[in-house]
Amino acid sequence: MTGGVRPLSVAVVGAGPAGVYAAGLLTELAPGTRVDVVERLPTPYGLVRYGVSPDHPKIRRIVDSLHGMLDHPDVRLLANVEVGTDMTIDELRSVYDAVVVATGAQRDARLDVPGVDLPGSFGAADVVSWYDSHPEVPREWPLHAETVAVVGAGNVALDVTRMLIRHARTLERTDLSENVRRGLAANAVRDIHVFARRGPVDVRFSPGELRELGEQEDVDVVVDPAQIVRDEHTERMVRQLAPKRRVVRTFERWAAVPAADRRASRRVHLHFHRAPAAILGTDRVEGLRTEITAPDGFGHAEPTGELEDHPVQAVYRAVGYVGSPVPGVPFDPVRHVVPHTRGAVLDGDGVPVPGLYATGWIKRGPVGLIGATRSDAKETVETLLAADTGQRRPGSGAADAILRERGVPVVDWEGWLRIDAAEQRLGAASGRERTKIVDRSELVALGAGVTV
Ligand SMILES: Cc1cc2nc3c(=O)[nH]c(=O)nc-3n(C[C@H](O)[C@H](O)[C@H](O)COP(=O)(O)OP(=O)(O)OC[C@H]3O[C@@H](n4cnc5c(N)ncnc54)[C@H](O)[C@@H]3O)c2cc1C
Repeated sequence: MTGGVRPLSVAVVGAGPAGVYAAGLLTELAPGTRVDVVERLPTPYGLVRYGVSPDHPKIRRIVDSLHGMLDHPDVRLLANVEVGTDMTIDELRSVYDAVVVATGAQRDARLDVPGVDLPGSFGAADVVSWYDSHPEVPREWPLHAETVAVVGAGNVALDVTRMLIRHARTLERTDLSENVRRGLAANAVRDIHVFARRGPVDVRFSPGELRELGEQEDVDVVVDPAQIVRDEHTERMVRQLAPKRRVVRTFERWAAVPAADRRASRRVHLHFHRAPAAILGTDRVEGLRTEITAPDGFGHAEPTGELEDHPVQAVYRAVGYVGSPVPGVPFDPVRHVVPHTRGAVLDGDGVPVPGLYATGWIKRGPVGLIGATRSDAKETVETLLAADTGQRRPGSGAADAILRERGVPVVDWEGWLRIDAAEQRLGAASGRERTKIVDRSELVALGAGVTV
């Protein structure tokens, strides 16, 4: 920026970690930059609030550092404002000097097998949203199944399995809303079967999260020793990569437990080389059909045509998240991401769209931990700052005028602090740090001071 030019005014779309890190980096790398963080939900923090498991309070603590970045004199929160509905991208682009899209990924990737739409077949994103008290999913969740299948071999599959197999009494200290607490207390589950398409060394579980599965009160983890016999590929990976070694050893430890020593009332069964082939049932889920796969020696799984049926009453599909397009922003419908070069959004001809940037899961795809969204935001912010021509648009006042004229009840930073305080008061009444408020109209009433 040249001397005398008014500071940049930037809109960040999405108050998940990627958007908040982008805002924080903008104020850090270009002091004086004014940033408005626009968020469709009445609350900030994206998947840190509505994805990370309630029994992972240490990870939720990342909120403390995100809080510090939003609580900055040059940063404003405009929550309860959906870009594409309440305001268009073109309006934002006409008002701010630059717009950063950080809308993340909220939906389940589709599992293309027959029966996937039967009642009792659920996407992981939906049940995660339920137990994390997301305002846009039904309050009640059907937990009548005694035997459940989870399809997938990543950390989300582990989160869902752990949250569904845990006894509700062990979640007493967490921030679950009251409806979730009641729902989990009535959970009829006895057995959860987790199905991985590939072998034990090629799952995506992190070692720590996997070990945690075996630390749950009154839960046994069952592994068939015949399914984890080491082949040459496994030996090679275990020799070279410490995390793989830890994961495989954890499976081997569980496989070595004699059946007579398993006395828990709930069990998790891990199955390897089983790919989902069909969800069975006529009016509702009655089973899962898997196809046995064979290792090809390089970490891939080849179909064998051999099928196995597992009687279950519910199937949870944890096969990945996907991002959704934001109207007016170029979108790659195959990879479900915004096409970009170093964070600069590209149009259909591969040419950067002036003043439009992307960061986080909508830029990279839904992989990687929260920490990775910071380095990602840094790349985007550096690209944005390098492209600053010094030309200035009207800034946030014009955006406020549009929202006021449309009567959008904006939850600003003070509004969020009121919600935050109300949740803490609600929790304190039961000796907890926080109890989440789930009802959207209650959140908006607290945050924007209006009844919707
Ligand atoms: C179930 C689950 C558990 C996880 N657990 C962990 C964990 O334990 N540890 C860890 O490090 N990582 C974890 N992650 C990964 C972590 O959540 C992501 O790395 C991170 O949240 C991605 O950040 P983001 O800001 O790109 O997206 P998000 O967190 O999804 O944030 C995007 C934000 O944009 C908003 N938005 C979307 N569309 C619009 C719009 N049109 N207008 C305005 N706002 C919009 C959304 O409401 C949301 O608040 C987990 C992910 C999932 C799915």
